[in-house]
Amino acid sequence: MPNFINQKHLEAITAEQKAKLIEYFAAPGSTGTDEQIAALLGVEYQMANALLASKMCKDICDIEFLASHSCNPDKPVSSIPYQLDGFPFFPFICPHCGSPINNYQDLLFSSIAISTAK
Ligand SMILES: [Zn+2]
Repeated sequence: MPNFINQKHLEAITAEQKAKLIEYFAAPGSTGTDEQIAALLGVEYQMANALLASKMCKDICDIEFLASHSCNPDKPVSSIPYQLDGFPFFPFICPHCGSPINNYQDLLFSSIAISTAK
């Protein structure tokens, strides 16, 4: 599995944004997709995605990949913890449209952070 941890992304956001991110995930049970974190911090999607993969987020959250079928990008069909290798589910039937999915081209990927705060 590639190492997604890259501290450089943390240097690209302000101390206020960093504090906001930490405060957001300090709430037990809080979750944030890259889209939500982008909106929260006012950063681009790619930056939010990179932030979720940062060590800081890994220290306070469990991070999972979300896989969505192109028929319904907003409703993930699967979530996979970052620590696992690959997506061992081909072929499978999309629960939303019933189509068989045989390859990665039919899927959209994003990520979600789930606070580990108790
Ligand atoms: Zn589908």
